[in-house]
Amino acid sequence: TTYTHHFDTATFKGDVTLNTGLFINGQWVDPVEGGTIDVIDPTTGKVITSVAGATSGDVDRAVEAAEKASKTTWGLKMPGGQRGRLISKLADLIEKYQDELSALEALNVGKTFNDAKGLDLNGVIGTLRYFAGWADKIHGKTIETTDKKMAYTRHEPFGVVGCIVPWNFPLMMAAWKLGPALATGNAVVLKPSEITPLTALRLADLVNEAGFPPGVLNILPGYGPKAGQAIAEHPKIRKVAFTGSTLTGRKILKAASETNLKVVTLELGGKSPTIIFDDADLDQTLKWAAGGIFTNMGQSCVAASRIFVQESIYQNFLEKFVALAQNLTDHTGSPFDPKTRHGPQVSQTQFDRVMGFINSGKQDGAKVLIGGERHGQEGYFVKPTVFTDVNPKMSIMQDEIFGPVCSVVKFKTEEGEFIRISWFSAMINRFLIEVLELANDVAYGLGANVFTENASRAIRVSNALEAGSVWRFSFYKINCAQATEFCVPFGGYKQSGIGRDLGQYALDMYTQVKGVHINI
Ligand code: NAD
Repeated sequence: TTYTHHFDTATFKGDVTLNTGLFINGQWVDPVEGGTIDVIDPTTGKVITSVAGATSGDVDRAVEAAEKASKTTWGLKMPGGQRGRLISKLADLIEKYQDELSALEALNVGKTFNDAKGLDLNGVIGTLRYFAGWADKIHGKTIETTDKKMAYTRHEPFGVVGCIVPWNFPLMMAAWKLGPALATGNAVVLKPSEITPLTALRLADLVNEAGFPPGVLNILPGYGPKAGQAIAEHPKIRKVAFTGSTLTGRKILKAASETNLKVVTLELGGKSPTIIFDDADLDQTLKWAAGGIFTNMGQSCVAASRIFVQESIYQNFLEKFVALAQNLTDHTGSPFDPKTRHGPQVSQTQFDRVMGFINSGKQDGAKVLIGGERHGQEGYFVKPTVFTDVNPKMSIMQDEIFGPVCSVVKFKTEEGEFIRISWFSAMINRFLIEVLELANDVAYGLGANVFTENASRAIRVSNALEAGSVWRFSFYKINCAQATEFCVPFGGYKQSGIGRDLGQYALDMYTQVKGVHINI
């Protein structure tokens, strides 16, 4: 079955047709149990269409196809350069259809068409091209141990890899997995989020158009506890690459450990800090701080929901920051209106979750400076929300909200005073715990942002932060966009994950190394 969506908007006009079945072995098939998933438009709460929902029987079929491909046509049966050309071809086709794909992403996620194109699709195309280039550059070493003995190493694909991705950047998160998985010669079973399956379904047709052998990439929309769990448990899947919440990450790790002990990499949640020292360029910093939390309506794993501002600029920052939040509120609306800068949360569940956090902040005694309520009567819109007067133990300061909600906190110093006067009473020590301790005082460690014109302080603070990525020292004066540097590894410290996406480092996540020993 197919579904055609007719777009007649200011930013995109045209019909987009996609198959709504399961993509297994290069073909569209119906799910064995006949399950379906309703896909919702978050700006209205109405059903767009329904698509097939996979269950464990479908995962079995997909794994069988993938295993066959990995042994007969793909993996070490196809030269790396040829694999790379297919991945490049796929990137070219995605570029060709980027407006269609951006429109689907905007429709299904609620992000603006312009963001979908500028951030998501750009990221997808760039990631695939980056990894396409690696496909013929994966090789081992020779190691001579004595003049009578040598060994060589091989970086071999796992065979079948399961990729489970979330709804916030649906196609981009898929590309972060597919790029390195395919470049290293693995065959893939990809499960998009049940909330946002549309772009992955459109991608499937492009996989065939690019000319991949059947079974190399299988795409199965399905619910997490059904299709996702079946992937995590499957005995013939040797590696699972997951992006999503920490709670689901734990379930996948457990399932893997209790079945075939598959290799698991996890990109999980975050509670990222933005730290602004009083020497930073305030106008630049304001824009970055607002982008850090409000981009994608706060539905970003690196959303910087804790903003620490040095005391002498705190009041000034706050006034201007609230004005930026107001500006976003004034530009809330349809993702297809070119003036829109703020859209809805992705689903009713996420809307309820974010409103729950806003209410918990209010109940805990934090002050709402702006926002703190829904926007309009239809859809899942939440106003950009800024809290002050928080304490570090409040839920809004500890838990991932995944919405347009942040707290602004005043600090005095980088650190040091805590140590220097530590012989004072315990109360004074607590009072003087300063920004580094505060920034690191969460279970997560995904991203962090530091703004200062002082280079040594920028480096000192970046090194002391417990985070997998640190961005945007303003002294560089460059446009340092988050997470789109394809050559730089991305991933979490602490409970933000295991392993890395992107960069050369990602190749190691999709290969296993063999040492072959030879007596000469
Ligand atoms: P989620 O964990 O609910 O779902 C993610 C995926 O896991 C979906 O495809 C879902 O169907 C699947 N899933 C759910 N239960 C499963 C199970 N028992 N077994 C196997 N698969 C299962 O997360 P979400 O709500 O889709 O996404 C939001 C989360 O993703 C946030 O916590 C966010 O921080 C995180 N995220 C992290 C990164 C990163 O790179 N670190 C990037 C984007 C999003």
